[in-house]
This record gives sequence, structure tokens and C-alpha cells, in this order.
Amino acid sequence: MATRNYDLHAHTTASDGSMSPTQLVEHAQRCGVDVLAVTDHDTTQGIDEAQRAAAGLGVEIVPGIELSVTWDTQTIHILGLYIDPHTTSLQLGLEELQKFRHWRAEEIARRLDKAGIAGAYDGALHFSNGKIISRTHFARFLVERGYARDLRQVFTRYLVNHKPGYVPGKWASLSQALGWIQDAGGLAVVAHPARYRFTATRLQRLVNEFRELGGVALEVVSGSHSEQDAAHFAKMTQTMHLYASRGSDYHGPEQSYADPRRLALLPANCTPIWHSDLWQVCVEHVTTQVS
Ligand code: AMP
Ligand code: MN
Ligand code: MN
Ligand code: MN
Repeated sequence: MATRNYDLHAHTTASDGSMSPTQLVEHAQRCGVDVLAVTDHDTTQGIDEAQRAAAGLGVEIVPGIELSVTWDTQTIHILGLYIDPHTTSLQLGLEELQKFRHWRAEEIARRLDKAGIAGAYDGALHFSNGKIISRTHFARFLVERGYARDLRQVFTRYLVNHKPGYVPGKWASLSQALGWIQDAGGLAVVAHPARYRFTATRLQRLVNEFRELGGVALEVVSGSHSEQDAAHFAKMTQTMHLYASRGSDYHGPEQSYADPRRLALLPANCTPIWHSDLWQVCVEHVTTQVS
């Protein structure tokens, strides 16, 4: 069988992507993706529609999630692949994360208001369409109002640490996140590890903890990784006996991360998560459930 094209990280309008699940699946197909993980932030709402849309298109959907985690005072993202969305502990956890998102959105708006920017809550809510509310929706509102040129600029001016609209995260703990993913039968992956800009020691500590808690892979190739990042994390999967994942982190045409079409292949010196026995177990599990 020809090598299949895996993109194991992408967003829809269920969180901060700009494409509906159906549009995302159609786009992935046009980009030559054979296996697509739908991994919205802190919600599983996009999965059903993606699976329905994929049925006629020859694209396989991996039901997934991207969980917001606070680790060692910093926000990191953990992907869950092949999760069963109908898992009570997972959904209860997501409710808590969504509650925090709601409170944080109000707080971001209060802070922007103090900085002279009125109406940000309603503005962000409008962009989020009543679904998960994220900083991306604030960013779209601020760009629309002319406070910045594009999404990238709006983040650095308003939405990150030491800027007027920044509110620190209080997300899930690493052990909670891995617990929910495992309860849901899924495989845990550290998303875009290069983005955290951790020192080597801190990164090592994160990966050690992640492994001890049953995590299985690092996202080696990501839309937000350079070639050097990919090489570095490929090596790290080898020394740490972890698998490697590959995902575009696609959010739609106007966002800064790479398009699935331009995503690099995994380096040769790492083992793709889809070659693992754990992955095969998940594939077989999903297939038996469907038939
Ligand atoms: P949140 O989970 O609500 O804090 O929002 C995080 C999301 O904001 C990420 O998943 C990205 O989609 C987006 N984001 C974060 N930093 C940037 C940036 N510098 N430029 C563009 N988008 C960003
Ligand atoms: Mn995002
Ligand atoms: Mn992320
Ligand atoms: Mn993402």
C-alpha cells in the first residue's frame, strides 16, 4: 500500500478554526490528506460532522482533542488522538475548561475595556458563534476594529503576557489531561513542543512527567515548527522511547500556521505514531464500533 498522508492536528469552527468540520475535511482531501485528526481546543463538538463529511470522500477521521493544560505555571497543549468523545470523565473535564474559558473571556474584555477598547466581549462572542471562546476570537475582533494589522500582531500587542488583554490560564493539570485521554481510550501527544520556548532542563522534566503519566508521542512535525525543531524533537523521541506525530495545526486560510499541503514529512530517524501497536489497537477498536 502506498504511504498514507497523516495530518493529526487541525481545528474547526467548533473552536478557533475558520472552517466548518465539513469544509475542513473537504480542504484536507484537496490537500491529499488521507487521515485527518480533528483536534479542537477543549471540545469534541466538531467530530460528528467531520465523520459524516468524510464518509464519501475517502478521508479517514481520527477523533481528537487539544487540551489546554497548566504545567509548571505555563500553558501547554496536549493532544488526545482516537478518543471516544462519549466518555463521562472527559466531558466533565471539558465542561470545567469551558467554564474557565467563559470567565477568562469576560476578564479579557474587562481588561481591554480599561485599556480603552470597548465591546470586546460581544465582539469575540460574535466571532466564536456561540461555541468555544478563545483568544483567537478576540484577535479577529481587534483586527476587524483596526487595532492591529493581522492576527500575529494582535497577539503580540494585546493578548500575551505583560500586554493589556492578557489573563493567565488556569487549565487542567497534566495528570488530569492524560487521565481523561486514557479514560477515553486515546493516545496522548505533546503538541508543538518547540512553541513553549522551555529551557532544555524544563523540557526534559515535562517529557519525563508526560511519559510517566502514560503519554506516547511528541508532535515532531508541526505547522509551527521549523525544520530544526523537527530534527531536534525527532531525536528526542528516540532517546525518550516515544513515538513521533505530524500535524499542520491548520486553523483556516487566514491564519499563520502551515497549510496541510506544505507540511513536511517526518524525519527518518523517528517512529511515526501510526506505526505503533497502540495505534493499531485504536484503529481496530473504531472499525469494530462502526461495523
Ligand atoms: P486560547 O486557547 O484561547 O488561549 O488561544 C490560543 C490560540 O490562539 C492558539 O491555539 C492559536 O490558535 C492562537 N494563537 C496563539 N498565539 C498566536 C500568535 N502569536 N499568532 C496567531 N495565533 C496565535
Ligand atoms: Mn488555536
Ligand atoms: Mn496549540
Ligand atoms: Mn492546535
